[in-house]
This record gives sequence, structure tokens and C-alpha cells, in this order.
Amino acid sequence: MTDQTLIILGASGDLTGRLLLPGLGALLTAGHVPGLTLIGAAVDDWDDARWRERVHESFGDGPVAGEVADRARYLRTDVTHADDLRRLLGEARGSVVIFFALPPAVTARACRAMLDVDLPEGTRLVLEKPFGTGSAAAAELNALLTRLVPEERVHRVDHFLGKSTVLNILGLRFANRIFEPLLSNAHVASVEIVFDEDLALENRAGYYDHAGALADMIQSHLLQILGLLTMEPPFTLGAAEFRDRKADVLRATRPWSDDPAECSLRARYTAGELGGRKLPSYADEPGVDPDRGTETLAELIVAVDTWRWAGVPFRLRSGKAIGNRRREAVITFRKPPRVPDGLLGCDQPDRLRIGFGPDRLAVDFNINGPGDPFELDPVTLAAEFGEGDLPPYGEVLRGVFEDDPTLSVRADTAEQCWRIVEPVTGAWRAGKVPLREYPAGGSGPTLPLP
Ligand code: NDP
Repeated sequence: MTDQTLIILGASGDLTGRLLLPGLGALLTAGHVPGLTLIGAAVDDWDDARWRERVHESFGDGPVAGEVADRARYLRTDVTHADDLRRLLGEARGSVVIFFALPPAVTARACRAMLDVDLPEGTRLVLEKPFGTGSAAAAELNALLTRLVPEERVHRVDHFLGKSTVLNILGLRFANRIFEPLLSNAHVASVEIVFDEDLALENRAGYYDHAGALADMIQSHLLQILGLLTMEPPFTLGAAEFRDRKADVLRATRPWSDDPAECSLRARYTAGELGGRKLPSYADEPGVDPDRGTETLAELIVAVDTWRWAGVPFRLRSGKAIGNRRREAVITFRKPPRVPDGLLGCDQPDRLRIGFGPDRLAVDFNINGPGDPFELDPVTLAAEFGEGDLPPYGEVLRGVFEDDPTLSVRADTAEQCWRIVEPVTGAWRAGKVPLREYPAGGSGPTLPLP
């Protein structure tokens, strides 16, 4: 196996400490990427000792990961300067992976600086969302990236695609006969993909106040889940086929109505109580510019214009500071064409619910219950799943080190995801959809389904 070097640009940042290093530690502990060289780079005046301390803390006690941490190097670097980048690459051994854990604007400048640097053959570039700020900016960034390395070596990370339950959608749909034949407009009335968080801003105003719920969750993660739920069965799970099928449905996806006020909702939380703690209004949180009008809850109803899904509304929703955490995809089926006269009682629609934390699968339906044999009762069949062997960032990094871009977002798909939300963001900016309010700890407003 060839030596590999991972260079993390933005080594002192939040993503590196909270998600990336723990994912890498789990991957190393599971025996992947033996002999990895790890180099951290940022503008902070750190040294090797300070960086190693951070790496050890994230990796835990395992001997394999510990060895990598002991040898880790830190180089003070301005990633927007070609000379600094050359010096950094001079420390690398074997094939190189460069992870951009940088603010998006700095990532674009670092890529431009890299045009003047000879990247070693086989270098892979790993980018974090957001991929650009809109479809035009994403296309510009993509064009820049392909001047650096071929598209197959660009890994755009959407860590939701590394979550085991999200990937379980593939097994649920394509490895058994029970559900897949029902997943079409002939049987499905509507679909919801919901990520309501019982967390508020968590000191991330600097990032979040510029992003908001639509860009932070819907444009990225929830559209990827929609892709997995609606794609046609791929012939193989090879990167090209899998990403083609996902791209097909995302190209066919659009806001449900030409009028964004009918198919989108934006709101932000006001003061309230969440999990027993008092929360100030979003607008009063430190670091927030209230005039920016950033939403902490967004809903978007989209249509997927394929033969299979035409006419089915998909509600994508994510909110912060919501009293009841809810992370699931819910497929609601049409009513049976006719219930025989004499079967009485329950009007609850049949539903398939895929939970993304807790990870579970549940089917709600009606049967003849106990007591009166002709009276219907709702029942739920449910199964809980354990977590995957690797955390999402570990899974995603495995794909990067194994040169397998299956779980990464392809350039055209990144642009499509912006194209889907742009009519809505445009209308929001123009003030055509009012910014509503909801108390922290409440359930937040919602749109009626068409
Ligand atoms: P932070 O602001 O916490 O960290 C940014 C890092 O980049 C810091 O180490 C910073 O160093 C470094 N940096 C900035 N400018 C330069 C420069 N010119 N040269 C070298 N280093 C530089 O951001 P996050 O870690 O939160 O986010 C990083 C990326 O990950 C963003 O694209 C974000 O959208 C994405 N992301 C973040 C998530 C998270 O939970 N944090 C989740 C999903 C995606 P210094 O501190 O010295 O300025």
C-alpha cells in the first residue's frame, strides 16, 4: 500500500476539531490508511506540540491512531499564498489528500493560489459544503477545481451521505421487494424529509448567520436524502452509475409552485425555553446581525418531475430551537381505493418512516384490532438500527483514501442543488415571502401540503 499524507487546511477550526479528527481517528483505529502522515495548517501561531495535543484528544487512546498523532506536523500557513502551499506540500510523503476545512471564501482563494503550485500526481481535493454560494459561484469554483485535478479526484463532502441510516435507504429500497413497488405516485400521497433540531445557535453565529436553514440543511443534506429516496435503481453502486442516477432525479426537481410564497416558508426563533434553559431571540444572539433576516427554520415543497414521482409533493424542512427533535423521512401512502362497508374506525394513512437519529424504520398501518373484530386500530411495526462501524466523517474519508468518489457530490449535482433553491432565495431576498417568528422550544410554523 502506498504512503498517504492528509493535509488539513484550517487545522485550528471548529470542523477539524469536532468532526474531522474524530472521524479520522475512528478510521485509523479500524485499520484503514496505515502509516498515514498527518499535517495540519492554519494561520494560527501553533506548533507541532499544540497540534498533536489536539489530535490526541480527538483520536482517543488507540495505539494506531496514537502513532499517527505522535508524528503529526503543524505548519503555520497562509493558504492563499502559493509559496506557503509549496512549502506545505514539500512535507508530504506518497499520495496527497488536501482537505479544505476553511471558510468558503478562503477555499476559493486557496484554489486560485494552487494554480501556481505543481500538485503531486494523484492529489485528491476534499471540499466542505457550501460548494459556492449559488449555481453560478458553484460553476465557477468547479471550473477552477478541474484546472487543478480531474473531477474524480474532487470529493465534495456531504457527511449525511456517510450516515449509515441514510445509506440504509439503498438497502431498504433496492435489496427487498416489499417497499420498492409501492414507491411511486400510484401509491404515495406525499413525502416529508424533516430535520428539526432541539439545538439553537451553539456559538456558530459567524457561519450560520450568513447561511441560514435553507442553505445549511435543505440545499445540501436534505436534497441528497431526496436523491436517495427518489433515484431509479442503479445497476451497480459504482461511483459513476450511482451518481448518475442521483443526478437524474435532482435535475428533475423544482419548487412545487412558480410562486415561492406558496411553496416555501422562512421563520426565525424568538426568546423561549429549550430543554429547561432560557434562550434569547435569535436576533439577540451574540454575532447575529438581525437586519440580515437569517431564517432559523425553512420549509420548501418540491416536485420531482419524473414518470414515477410526478404529482407527489416533497416537503423539505429544517428548524433550530424546536421543542421536539425530529429527524426523519416520512412516506405517506394514498388511502386504499375502497374500504369495505362494515370495516369501521381508523382514518390514519399508512406511512413508512425512516428515522435518522434515533436510527429506526417504522411502518404505520391499520388492522382489525382487539375487541370489535370489524373496528380498525392503528399499529406500528418498528425496528431500531445500531450505528455504522464508522462515524459519518470516517465513512466519507474512507472513500477519499480509497479513491472512491461514490459518496461525494459531483460538480453538476452541486450546481443543480443550488438551481433548485435559487427561485426561493431570490424571492426571499426581494421580501416576497415574509420572515415569520416562532418561540424557541415551540414546534414552529409549517406549510399546508398541496
Ligand atoms: P472555522 O472558522 O472554525 O475554521 C476555519 C479555519 O480556517 C481556521 O483554522 C482558520 O484559522 C483557518 N483559516 C482561515 N483563513 C486562513 C488562511 N488564509 N490560511 C490558513 N488558514 C486559514 O470554520 P469551520 O471549521 O466551522 O468550517 C470550515 C468549513 O467547514 C466551512 O466551509 C464550513 O461551511 C464547513 N462546515 C463546518 C461545519 C461545522 O460544524 N463547523 C459543518 C459542516 C461544514 P484561524 O482560526 O487562525 O483564522
